[in-house]
Formats: sequence, structure tokens, C-alpha cells
Amino acid sequence: MSELKTNNKIAIVTGGSRGIGYAIAKTFVEHNIRTIIIARNETALIKASNDLGKLADYRVCDVAQLSEIPDLVNAIDEQYGRIDILVNNAGINLKKPVTEVSDEEYQKIITINQTAVFSLSREVTKIMIRQGKGSILNISSMAAQYGLPNVIAYSASKTAIEGMTRAMAVELSPQGIRVNCIAPGFIETPMSSKALDDDPERKNRVLSRTPMGKLGQPQDIGEAAYFLCSDKANFITGEVICVDGGNSIGF
Ligand code: NAP
Repeated sequence: MSELKTNNKIAIVTGGSRGIGYAIAKTFVEHNIRTIIIARNETALIKASNDLGKLADYRVCDVAQLSEIPDLVNAIDEQYGRIDILVNNAGINLKKPVTEVSDEEYQKIITINQTAVFSLSREVTKIMIRQGKGSILNISSMAAQYGLPNVIAYSASKTAIEGMTRAMAVELSPQGIRVNCIAPGFIETPMSSKALDDDPERKNRVLSRTPMGKLGQPQDIGEAAYFLCSDKANFITGEVICVDGGNSIGF
């Protein structure tokens, strides 16, 4: 039996309605963690929540609406009495040359991928400080490990959250809160298929510099996320762990 079952843990996974976030939520519920998934599309959330089973719940929220985040977190705390795990997974991408990205497009990516991660982490941290314990996991990207063309705002946002991971880990360690980050390689999801399916040259480059020679599966991230958020990782904080089939160290 998982050590987490007896602990009765509560997790929030943003962007848990599909792709990597869904796989993380699935792994959590399989380990008896009550998991609240958050996204914008309610139909997709209901389906995902039903598929995940009775340990899953959902909240509709556009994390770009920063002013709604405190109420969202307080409502979850009031209903469940605690928040043990926050996975900041919701994210969007925009593939365009630097010269064609408008200020509005740039800011939209920064708000969802970076500022919302800060706002959610700030609110959940208040609850974790009260508990004296908690685990926050951010989801970065290969775009923060090396230079990728045509994803300027995405690269900036993901690099920022790796810095936030270290800064928060240092600041919050005395309060029993661990903060880590997974940098996924190229994982088969709706997001990566949008970026790669119509760009065979980019896809070939991805595969040729990935020593394992394939895209990852969302479940690969789910397993690593569960480990980092579980008590098995009690002495790990401030880390950025690449789960990438070797892509970040590939020749
Ligand atoms: P995805 O398939 O596009 O799923 C994104 C999820 O985020 C969906 O549940 C989406 O639901 C939610 N979301 C998007 N914008 C939101 C918003 N404003 N408010 C609330 N929820 C929002 O993406 P994915 O590939 O699973 O990626 C998940 C995370 O992993 C992202 O942070 C991404 O940058 C990162 N990542 C992915 C890859 C990859 O190869 N796939 C690689 C590296 C990093 P709604 O649209 O209904 O809101």
C-alpha cells in the first residue's frame, strides 16, 4: 500500500484535463491521493474527472484570471481542510518567429506559464506554512535547458519558473515545504502534436537528438511527478529534473 494512503493527501493539478496533467492526476489517484484538476473547459474536466474515478474532483478556472486564484485556493482548502501537493502544470505555447510575436501574445504566455504559477504557489504556500509541510512541483521544458527557435515567450516563461523553483525552495525549506521542477522532454500530447506534426524537420531534429529515439509518454512524467511529490523524495528540493529520454544531454 502506498505510504500516501494513510496520509490522506490532497493534491491540485492545473491543466489536469488532458496530456501531461491528466497523467500526473492519474498517477496520484492510483496512489490514493485525492486530486483536484483545474482547467478552463468544463466538459473536458467532467470527462477527465469521471475517468479518474472517485478520488478526483475538478474546478473550472482560467489561471490567467489572477484575481480569481485566492478564492479558488481558499475554496479547496475550506472543502478539503488541507492542500499537500500543488502541481503547476497548465501551460500554453506559441510557435512564431521573434519578429512576429506581438506584446499581447508575449504577455499572454507569460501570464499563464509564469505569473499564474507564482500566484497559485503564493496562495497554496500560505496553507502549507499552516500545515508545516507541503510539496510544490513546477513543469518546465527543454526550452529552458537550451535554445529552441520560434518559442521566445515560452522559453522565457519556462526559464523563469526554474529560477522560481530554486528561490522558493530555499525560502520555504525551513517551513517544511519542498519545491521541485520537472523539465519534460518531448512528450506525446495535444500540445506537442500541434508543434511537431506539421513540422517534420523539427520533429526529426527532436528525435535525432534524443538518445532513446522516441517521444515520451505522459505517464513517464506522471511517475516522476509522483515520486517528487511523495515522502520518498523528502530530502529533494530546488531540483530541476529532466525526464526526457536523454534529450537535454543528447549529441
Ligand atoms: P496540453 O495537452 O495542451 O494540456 C494543457 C492543459 O492545460 C489542459 O488541461 C488545458 O485545459 C490547461 N490549460 C491551458 N491553459 C489554461 C489556463 N489558462 N487556465 C487553466 N488551465 C489551462 O499540454 P501538455 O503537453 O500536456 O503540457 C502540459 C505542461 O507540460 C505545459 O506546462 C507544457 O508547457 C509542459 N510541457 C509539455 C511538453 C510536451 O512535449 N508535451 C514538453 C515540455 C513541457 P483547457 O484548455 O481546458 O484550459
